[in-house]
Amino acid sequence: MNRKIRFVLCDTTHPGNIGAAARSLKTMGFDQLALVRPRFFPDPEADARATGAIDVLKKTLVTGSLSDAVADCGLVVATSARTRKFNNQELDPRAAALEILAASENTTVAVVFGTESSGLSNAQIDLCQKLIYIPTNPDYSSLNLASAVQLIAYELHYADAIFRPARKPEYPPATNRQMEDFYNHLSDALISSGFINPNNPGQLMRRLRLIFNRAELDEHELNILRGVLSSISVNKNT
Ligand code: SAH
Repeated sequence: MNRKIRFVLCDTTHPGNIGAAARSLKTMGFDQLALVRPRFFPDPEADARATGAIDVLKKTLVTGSLSDAVADCGLVVATSARTRKFNNQELDPRAAALEILAASENTTVAVVFGTESSGLSNAQIDLCQKLIYIPTNPDYSSLNLASAVQLIAYELHYADAIFRPARKPEYPPATNRQMEDFYNHLSDALISSGFINPNNPGQLMRRLRLIFNRAELDEHELNILRGVLSSISVNKNT
């Protein structure tokens, strides 16, 4: 499958899970794996569990932060074994697969997985626009990391067979790096206007992120918002 979909594993502690994830991807026709601060990589245990998917491991991208791993992505989707208070775009894997395929027509999409013990941090979830929860036994909802990767990859593979692309949009979606630059700009503007107290910022920026993440902004729309912020700061200083 020639889709621009990157599977990003954060802070993975067991190299066996990395190998098993690579195998899961290859069986479903994917080959883009990225690792954020893996504890051990490369590692013989990862190679052993990957078996015939060593080629996926060989070209794996390793980064020091999630932000770097998804900087060029126009859609970033978290996965979590728990419902998260601050994410209002929660999808099941089947619905998510259709959205991811549609977005991957125009941009690279990242699907992000957390560390084995505690999952994704709130700061990592803040970088994501949507969240996938795999429906499970409510009393025991945490799948093995590689099993979660397998399940999402399967849903994407299956959805690909029935997917019909929509019309191409006029502008590409804003990338994650562009969105982060915008949030920094917005936060600076709100601090200088006095709306946010830098000593006690509270949850305001997180709530604002929710609004803008929901909007699925394209590059052109983001440029308009950056222009609005710049014009307000300029007028304030003159
Ligand atoms: N104890 C952690 C679970 C970590 S499991 C927690 O409560 O969040 C490691 C990773 O596998 C998770 O971060 C997530 O990316 C994925 N995962 C496991 N179970 C999942 C589920 N039911 N739905 C979606 N992702 C899941």
